[in-house]
Amino acid sequence: MKTLLLICDGMADRPVPELANKTPLEIAKKPNMDWLAKRGICGLMDTIAPGVPPGSDTAHLALLGYDPYETYTGRGPFEAAGAGIELKAGDIAFRANYATVDDKLVVKDRRAGRIHGTEPLSAAVGEIKLKGAEFIFRSTVGHRATLVLRGDGLSHEVTDSDPHEEGKKPLQIEPLLHAPEQAVPAYPIIVGGVRKYVVRRRRAAKTARLLNDFSRKAYEILKTHPLNRERVKKGHPPANYILLRGGGIVPHLKPFHERFGIKGACVAAAALVKGVCRLAGMTVVDVPGATGGVDTDLDAKAKAALRALETHDLVLLHVKGFDEASHDGNARAKIGLIERTDAMLNQFIDMADFIAVAIDHTTPVSVRQHTSDPVPILISGPGVRADDVRTYGERSVAKGGLGWIRGKNLIPIIVDLMGKGIKFGA
Ligand code: ZN
Ligand code: ZN
Repeated sequence: MKTLLLICDGMADRPVPELANKTPLEIAKKPNMDWLAKRGICGLMDTIAPGVPPGSDTAHLALLGYDPYETYTGRGPFEAAGAGIELKAGDIAFRANYATVDDKLVVKDRRAGRIHGTEPLSAAVGEIKLKGAEFIFRSTVGHRATLVLRGDGLSHEVTDSDPHEEGKKPLQIEPLLHAPEQAVPAYPIIVGGVRKYVVRRRRAAKTARLLNDFSRKAYEILKTHPLNRERVKKGHPPANYILLRGGGIVPHLKPFHERFGIKGACVAAAALVKGVCRLAGMTVVDVPGATGGVDTDLDAKAKAALRALETHDLVLLHVKGFDEASHDGNARAKIGLIERTDAMLNQFIDMADFIAVAIDHTTPVSVRQHTSDPVPILISGPGVRADDVRTYGERSVAKGGLGWIRGKNLIPIIVDLMGKGIKFGA
């Protein structure tokens, strides 16, 4: 049994007045999704919980069957895993930005003129050695990068150095926990006891010190780096400072195949989604031409997904561009991508036993942010109790046979339909 799980990032919407109060999904021509909805079972899904707007990372944890409240530890680890760094449980990972600071260390541009091609800079920064931890630094996309700290006695309970504003200096990284002598009277009951708190605080203080030292060293290296001298000569802002944020400890996720007894693969462009899948132990397929935008090469992604289906039980195919179009408030681009994605879906109809279409969250073009509105889902394949739903849309699926589920229920439902459900009890 083979399953294609298509996840359309942010595809769900709210009624748009300019579209006669229909949603982009309701307006778009999508014969394949509608055909699957007719033959399948449909319903609504709260990816995290009712009323909680999901991030793409927590949403995908849930969509892979993990409880996001138990497993999510910040964005950094997922971003780092998505960048292809082999992480170990216990590593501390941050998102990093190349920024421009002046001689007084005031941030002039948080994105260093949206620089590209920072790999030589990251190679130089990656040489930094400090006693107490190993530093792994890697460029990702554009001005973005990721920093991983590996070693004993480290903590993710530290603040960001990113001031999130230009015209300010980078912030000193501090432990998030009060010094024990301040904390103990303020919090008479400390979770895990005072001793444990003191250890946590000591680790956080050590990590903060290491990160501040790293930031200083990186600045020294970057301000004289030939690539930056060249940029200054050309009148471009130099990428001479690394701003850190979103620190998190790498969680231990029980591998997907151990939890569900099926082999999973992921075809995605978005680093965050790749990271979640990689940390879940799935095969992550890199697709040249997959950009994560509305211009992504859907055909290349479909081919990669079809190939992955030959050797895996379930392939998660992620299309990101809907969310980008929604953040831009561009309903037309969204409708266009829905129609292209629907056309792409056609080639899976004879190649997969089960096809599930899901969405990680609603991103209304009118709001330009993620909202908590539940998303429509459909599962089509042998044995499903087909319902009366005729089209795949936010409102039409409400009368479907799946009812209203949570994100973490989706994979167990699919796995059981595939004949691999794990019985609870005798
Ligand atoms: Zn998303
Ligand atoms: Zn988004």
